[in-house]
Amino acid sequence: MDEKKKILVVEDEKNIATVLAYNIRKEGYDCDVAYDGETGLAMATEGEYDLLLLDIMLPKMTGFEICDRVRLVSQVPIIFVTAREEEKDRILGLETGADDYVTKPFSFKELMARVRANIRRSSGEVVKKRAEAAGGPIRIGELVIDRERYSVTKAGELVELSKKDYDLILFLAEHVGTAFTREELLEAVWGYDDYYGDIRTVDVTVSRIRKKIENDPARPEYLLTKRGVGYLLFDR
Ligand code: CA
Repeated sequence: MDEKKKILVVEDEKNIATVLAYNIRKEGYDCDVAYDGETGLAMATEGEYDLLLLDIMLPKMTGFEICDRVRLVSQVPIIFVTAREEEKDRILGLETGADDYVTKPFSFKELMARVRANIRRSSGEVVKKRAEAAGGPIRIGELVIDRERYSVTKAGELVELSKKDYDLILFLAEHVGTAFTREELLEAVWGYDDYYGDIRTVDVTVSRIRKKIENDPARPEYLLTKRGVGYLLFDR
């Protein structure tokens, strides 16, 4: 029933493009390839793609320029493939409208994990699931997680949270009392099912949340560590 998602690869090194397209198709996606920036931009704006994979150094137009132009008309997920540190810095600096990047040389396993995660996020499955699950507020001790307003209050006071903070609290609240590993949380909350980055992302987020919701972040009462497993939200 699911129609095939379609990916555009813009890459001027033909052998890399060929291997990319091969791997993408093997994963069950449709794939088109453009070998220069101008053609890539034309295809990206005319075709209906679910994700763009852009090399940065391209003939006629860089991947950054393609990204800028595409962003004027579309929110399609864009992943940059970069070989250079300064390009990576620019992407990380969020001066571009990219959603993600991989650094050459990359493993296809890593790349495909990023592709899947970005497509899943953009196709709104996460949002849909949340909407389906959304009911009334969840109350845990003094915390109230309001799924309609996407907000958390503690003893009636609004807690300032980033989107990921909120997503993580909500996920744990919907499974209150159950401990999850960092890998499980990465998949559920960040959308990576094979994340080569850093599972410490989860630890950093947990510690940030604790500063906001715990009376004493060093001795948490809500967001607990389960030794040897991971994290859970606890309701006394
Ligand atoms: Ca290139």
